[in-house]
Amino acid sequence: MCTVKRAVVLLILNKAETVVERNGKRVRSQYLEINVPSVIRIKRYINFRPYNVPLNKRNIMKRDKYTCQYCGKKGKDMTIDHVIPKDRGGKDTWQNLVTCCKECNMKKGNRTPREAGMKLLRKPRKPTYFHILFSEDEIPDENWKPFLFL
Ligand SMILES: [Zn+2]
Repeated sequence: MCTVKRAVVLLILNKAETVVERNGKRVRSQYLEINVPSVIRIKRYINFRPYNVPLNKRNIMKRDKYTCQYCGKKGKDMTIDHVIPKDRGGKDTWQNLVTCCKECNMKKGNRTPREAGMKLLRKPRKPTYFHILFSEDEIPDENWKPFLFL
């Protein structure tokens, strides 16, 4: 991600090319006029290391979109559940921590989902930086969607 200004500079320097233009917007200088890009492709390979998403309560809830991973209830008043309980060897990992409503947490107690007869809505995974940065309805530019692997 970068500012429009930086993107235009990269285009002028021929270091990038436009993949998707921003609908009809143009920038003008004395000597040239450029369609404002929405998505650019850098011509040279850049060693881009995606930011590591810190494992914490807030990010787990963001990944799960504040939705209980057992019953599908949505809300801000959620807890975090260890899928495999901690004292049974369950670790603090993206794969073992899910958003859980208070009712389901009570119901599940200190059991595995199988023992409690509960099923996860989906397999918990480590999220990408973009999943945490934007939820699907907060992406600043619609044109970015196909490129964000959401
Ligand atoms: Zn629930």
